[in-house]
Amino acid sequence: MDRTADIAIVGGGIVGLAHAYMALKKGYRVVLFERDQFAVGASVRNFGLLWPIGQEPGINLDRAMRSRQHWIDVAAQAGFWSHLNGSMHVVYHDDERDVLEEFMSLYKESFQCQLLTADEVIGKSPVVKRQRLKGGLWSATEGTVYSREAIRRIPMWLVEKYGLILKFGHVVTSIDLPVVKTARESWKVEKVFVCNGADFETLYPEVFDLHPVKKCKLQMLKAVPEKPFRLGPSLCAGLTLRHYAAFAKCASLQKVDARYDAASATFKKHGVHVLLAQNQLGELIIGDSHHYSKTVEPFDLEEVNDIILDYLNSFVDVGKLTITERWHGVYPKVEGTTNLVVEPEPGVTIVNGLGGAGMTLSFGLAEEHIAKL
Ligand SMILES: Cc1cc2nc3c(=O)[nH]c(=O)nc-3n(C[C@H](O)[C@H](O)[C@H](O)COP(=O)(O)OP(=O)(O)OC[C@H]3O[C@@H](n4cnc5c(N)ncnc54)[C@H](O)[C@@H]3O)c2cc1C
Repeated sequence: MDRTADIAIVGGGIVGLAHAYMALKKGYRVVLFERDQFAVGASVRNFGLLWPIGQEPGINLDRAMRSRQHWIDVAAQAGFWSHLNGSMHVVYHDDERDVLEEFMSLYKESFQCQLLTADEVIGKSPVVKRQRLKGGLWSATEGTVYSREAIRRIPMWLVEKYGLILKFGHVVTSIDLPVVKTARESWKVEKVFVCNGADFETLYPEVFDLHPVKKCKLQMLKAVPEKPFRLGPSLCAGLTLRHYAAFAKCASLQKVDARYDAASATFKKHGVHVLLAQNQLGELIIGDSHHYSKTVEPFDLEEVNDIILDYLNSFVDVGKLTITERWHGVYPKVEGTTNLVVEPEPGVTIVNGLGGAGMTLSFGLAEEHIAKL
């Protein structure tokens, strides 16, 4: 067998797949190595939300919007579910409404957003709780995929359409260009993208020692409602305002922050904010929490799931829920930046640290990297 390629990709999560897609479209011969028989990392454990509304205007919002277009194209061609359902931040306090207003005054031109009255919010999503509702922020640009479906389908489609050489079950153990070694094979390539997610230990561990990168563990749940319903836009509430960079420049956020801290220390202690997404089967994907460490605690805390579900119940009324799955995911997060792109040696690029926005940003970032080759 010819074990040569122009480009090797390490990792079959969204970052690796996006780089493979962009490189294949440019006509490169690409081999992708994934240690497992199919990817089981952060990319299949997330909400599946394409979430431009969380990105600060500028490079990252631009990347998110380009990525969104690529998701639309790839989903249509590869044949997996995607839904441009938008998003809605719903608020129950005057200080939260102030943040939405400040956000609109700062960024009206950058986002496709609209401030809604309480009645207008209910018009878009009947499951939002009406009592004490102060309004909401509707954004048209968000979308949803069912990540475990999409991340399994994309590599197969890349094989079928572009001739990707797919090496599932191959862990890359060393890179010494032009040679890339897996536990089973040796390949000759010109360029490598290392998209290794939360595995800092196998390749270039010194790079991960040098940068302030931590692993973030997030608890998640899947649930089915007693009575099926369509969610409409993906939903979140006041706690989410303090989670995403897009709102960080709003001075009015300080008051919201202080109020939540005074009400309960547990939100910050467990890094809880709550997003509600829905897949094509009507199932609800609910999360999440944020615990940072160098090594991830394997044991999930039921207390954290309770906090998430209690907060969810404060802004939606979806009737009785049956929890069908609980899991956690892990993503690397680098303090102070939105990604970690490093060249540890000529011809090798590590692409990591997209934090909670890898689904939102990867196609756009990969497009930039491949254009530079
Ligand atoms: C619970 C949760 C919810 C999230 N929600 C969202 C969301 O809704 N929207 C959003 O935009 N982002 C979200 N994110 C973030 C997003 O999922 C991540 O940023 C993204 O999945 C990271 O992709 P990745 O390819 O870097 O990592 P991964 O998906 O972890 O993939 C890395 C892959 O590399 C493989 N690998 C590592 N080392 C080797 C090696 N030496 N040889 C071979 N293979 C190797 C691993 O097996 C793994 O499959 C969420 C994350 C989590 C955990």
